[in-house]
Parts: sequence; structure tokens; C-alpha cells
Amino acid sequence: MASVCVAVRVRPLNEREKEMSAKVIIHMDGSTTSVHCNKKHIPKGIPGIGLTDGGRHSFSYDFSYDSTDVRSPNFVPQDKVFKDLGCDVLKAVFEGYNACVFAYGQTGSGKSYTMIGSPGDLGLIPRICDGLFCQISEKDQVDGASFRTEVSYLEIYNERVQDLLTTKTGPGSGSGLHLREHPKDGPYVQKLSTHLVQNYTDIEELMHAGNAKRTTASTGMNDVSSRSHTSFTIIFTQVRFDAELPCETVSKIHLVDLAGSERTGARLKEVANINKSLATLGSVISVLADTCVTGGGGGSHTGKRKKQLFIPYRDSLLTWLLKDSLGRNSKTIMIATLSPADVHYSETLSTLRYANRAKNIVRKPTVNEDSGV
Ligand code: ADP
Ligand code: MG
Repeated sequence: MASVCVAVRVRPLNEREKEMSAKVIIHMDGSTTSVHCNKKHIPKGIPGIGLTDGGRHSFSYDFSYDSTDVRSPNFVPQDKVFKDLGCDVLKAVFEGYNACVFAYGQTGSGKSYTMIGSPGDLGLIPRICDGLFCQISEKDQVDGASFRTEVSYLEIYNERVQDLLTTKTGPGSGSGLHLREHPKDGPYVQKLSTHLVQNYTDIEELMHAGNAKRTTASTGMNDVSSRSHTSFTIIFTQVRFDAELPCETVSKIHLVDLAGSERTGARLKEVANINKSLATLGSVISVLADTCVTGGGGGSHTGKRKKQLFIPYRDSLLTWLLKDSLGRNSKTIMIATLSPADVHYSETLSTLRYANRAKNIVRKPTVNEDSGV
């Protein structure tokens, strides 16, 4: 099953970019994304790294979503993203697999918009949850199967895990939790609370409560949220009867909002931790994508590839925690979000390269080589 899907999405110019008379430098054609930039577009102090071919780089992904202009016939709305990506997540989960969706990109590029959205313009998480409960009620009536849905919500900030849903009070409660590995069930966070939910409203309430508990809220530092990773996890248990015997499958869906990929403004220790976890995640995903092509499983011997592939899950808390949702029994999706503006050229190019490294390079050949350094 190990299947890695990589999508990129570009948002509209924001007011600040318009005030700066920023130019749109992202162009999408089918699954291909190109970024064009003349040196004159690059603001002072931002190096024009890798500018070749007249400042044009093209990459192909599983999906390239153009959401720059709502009036354009090519505009990609939230429901299209859900149909392409969210439906696959639901399919995998009902088949008993795990799933993992990441949003990667610089702060303000649209990670939360894509994952959560707004009340009138719902993103992936609410749509996935809604789809989950719709399918549960359909299946409940048809074949008498039973389902249990629980959620947990955690934050990783400076390589420390915090429970965002704990009901315990008092100093330090729910923070600095330890990651353990169960020999059979895999990695888990000791003492992380899980909460039974019956519908999306229950989930929404828990997400609100969790967001209020993020490090940003407790420290009063607004930009900390851009330096922490959060994982909203749905633990979905299905009980069916196979020849009169109950058969239980447990699937996890991790919905992950990663720390902003930019490195400006963060403190030294934070930079090191963020870089490490984002780099490790990139390596894990690219090894998995490669494993998928060669027909092998995470770390297993295969006919084609005799050498054991090493997947560096343990190199960061994030990847270790997500290990069982990043392996062969999992549907993994990365959505890289982009600003369309020339003023963010360097960050955009580095996001495109990160996403390019994560994708299944052999199965989906690149249209044009990225020749930059
Ligand atoms: P991030 O979570 O990456 O920091 P946000 O999701 O908060 O960024 O997006 C920043 C702003 O851009 C928000 O006001 C959001 O509504 C807007 N935005 C982001 N992506 C889109 C999009 N695809 N279409 C319309 N608006 C968007
Ligand atoms: Mg956000």
C-alpha cells in the first residue's frame, strides 16, 4: 500500500503582497508547477539561488492546485482538494490502513486554510471527518458493523510533546510527555488523552479547545505557533463479523500542520529542532516513495533491492511518532502550500524542492529537470 502522494497549492496574493506590487510568479499547467523569476524580482538581501534558464524551474507533482484567482476557470476550490485527496484517505481508512496528511510551507502560505479552512469554506479535516461519519452511518445500517472513533491532539514544540486536549489542570499537566514504543502496536505518547467522538461537532469542539491550549496561548508569543508541529489524530476502530467471529481493525489518521518552513525570526535552538524534524520527515517520505517503486516495504528485503533500506524514523520526534502512519500500511499525502508572489521566491523554490524530493520520482517522471543548485 505504501503510497506517497504529493500535491502543491498556491494561494491568492494577499493584501500585503499587493501593496508591495508583488508579481505572481507561479504558473500551473496540468500537474506541472513552474516558478519564474527575474533577478530584479528578488528583494535586496534575498539571494537569487539557483536562477538558471532565465529564472524558470518546473516540477511535476501528483497534483498542482492553482487557487490564485477565484474568477479563473482553473481555480481549484476546497472541494476539489477533498475529492482528490480526502476521498483516498477515507477509502484507505475503511480498508483498515493508516493515513497521514501533512501540510508543508512557509507561514502564511495556506497550510491551515487547506487543512482546516473557514466555516463557509471547509478544508480537508472537517471534510474528512464529515465523510467518515457519513460512511459510518451508511455502513452501520447495511452490514451491522460497529465503529468507534476517538481523537487526540498534540503539539511538538522544541522536541517536547504537549497534549492539547488534556482535562487535567495544574502546572505542567499534559506537557513534556514521553514517547514510548510498544513492541506490537508501535510508538505512542505515554499519558496522551484520547476522546470518544460521535460526530463532527464533537471533533470541532475538541479542535477549538486544543487550539486555545497551544504554546502560543500559554506564552503569549504569537509566532510560536508557526514554529510548532501539531498532529490531530483520529483513531478509528471497526468491528465486523467474519463467519460469526468478531474481527477488529484499528486505523489511525494523522492530520499534521507542520511548523512554518521559513527560518527567519526563530531562535537558534528552535531553528535546529525545526530543521531537523522537517529534514527527517523529507528523508522518510522520500525513502518510502522509493520503496513503493521498487516494490519493497519499509526496511524489508525485496527481489529488486537486496540492500535493506534504512528509514530514519527515530531521528526526530515527529517521524518517530508517525512511524506507523508512514510505513507500508499507510496512505501518505503531502500538500505543499505556496505564496504566488515574487517577494517569496526563495521560500517558494525551497518548498517546491522539498515537495519534489518527497514525491515518487520514478513512477511519476519529472517534466523538466530542476537544474538549480
Ligand atoms: P499558514 O497556516 O500556512 O500560516 P494560512 O492558512 O493561515 O497560512 O493562510 C494565510 C492567509 O491566506 C489566510 O488569510 C487564508 O485565508 C489565506 N489563504 C490561504 N490559502 C488560500 C487559498 N487557497 N484561497 C484563499 N485564501 C487562502
Ligand atoms: Mg497555520
